[in-house]
Amino acid sequence: MLDDIILLSKQLIKIPSISPLDLNCQKIISKRLKKIGFIIENIKINQTNNLWAYKGIGKTLTFLGHTDVVPPGDLVKWKINPFKPKIIKDFLFGRGSSDMKGSLAAMIIATENFVKKNPFHKGRISFLLTSDEESLALDGTKKVINILKKRNEKIEYCLVGEPTSNIFLGDVIKNGRRGSISATLKIYGIQGHIAYPKLADNPIHKSVNFLKDLINLKLDSGNNYFEPSNFQIFNLFSGKKNITNMIPNSINIGFNIRYNTEITKEEIVFKIKKILMKYNFKYKINWIFSGDPFITNSGLLLKVVKHSINKIQHFKPILSTSGGTSDGRFFSNMNSEIVELGLVNKTIHKINECVKVKDLYILYKIYKDILKNIFI
Ligand SMILES: [Zn+2]
Repeated sequence: MLDDIILLSKQLIKIPSISPLDLNCQKIISKRLKKIGFIIENIKINQTNNLWAYKGIGKTLTFLGHTDVVPPGDLVKWKINPFKPKIIKDFLFGRGSSDMKGSLAAMIIATENFVKKNPFHKGRISFLLTSDEESLALDGTKKVINILKKRNEKIEYCLVGEPTSNIFLGDVIKNGRRGSISATLKIYGIQGHIAYPKLADNPIHKSVNFLKDLINLKLDSGNNYFEPSNFQIFNLFSGKKNITNMIPNSINIGFNIRYNTEITKEEIVFKIKKILMKYNFKYKINWIFSGDPFITNSGLLLKVVKHSINKIQHFKPILSTSGGTSDGRFFSNMNSEIVELGLVNKTIHKINECVKVKDLYILYKIYKDILKNIFI
């Protein structure tokens, strides 16, 4: 079994599917799923390939994943060619080995094995795979979910294969994620000669107190599942390099808020607009809403995932909502129970990304046990 998982992982890693390209990774997967009775639907949106595949009827578990990877970075620093996977001392090296082609291989082989033994299982097993998770996430899971919603599809359980483990396979699972809002704000002043400040209005000077107010803005105190929402400035620029005698016309501020379930995006926007009003600036603001927060604090999926990890690894996983967003956020629209469980994240997106070969087998066993506990 382990040989099969390694083989499929390698087959996928060999394909340099740098986001948002899939380059036929999904073809390999759909061929296998078709063989065991899955109905296959390819949904191509612009450059992004999406795969929606399902078998059975009734309560649905969706394995959610992505076939794209981040670029390898400086090739000279890699021990191997990142797209020629190789096992070195119990570790499989290659771009995507832990994020998340290894995890895809474990999901698929767990499903094949389960379906072969239980061809008449109850419920519906499905896969939703995209190739734009690592880039803008515009034409992937989000749009497919919209299509499925329009068809009145129901998905009760969503198991995301993102690398959530810290040290040991299954030590951490994610049962929620924070939401994310970004904004680019331009505050206008009046351009002028730096020697005649009375004839100008310096946008840098006048935004200093405003920025302080933003940084000190308390959004909420967090709750049992989330830390307090957090505001961070990611960009600040104004004026022109080397021009030392001019008060600039405007200042540009970029900021991001990672927020929890205690506050809504509307409330955040309202609070920030209120501060802007206090200063009476002339400004332009552009908001980017990349995802709402979600939390799964009870239900069958969480119970089963915890049980399977405990059975196979003999420890209880830590439940976490930290880290960046994942495509799991789009399933909150479907009111699904969402749990994320995948490989160890120590080397993801790095030079020399790798996965412990044994972990691929453990993850396969856990996924298979989850299928058994939900569908038998
Ligand atoms: Zn990933």
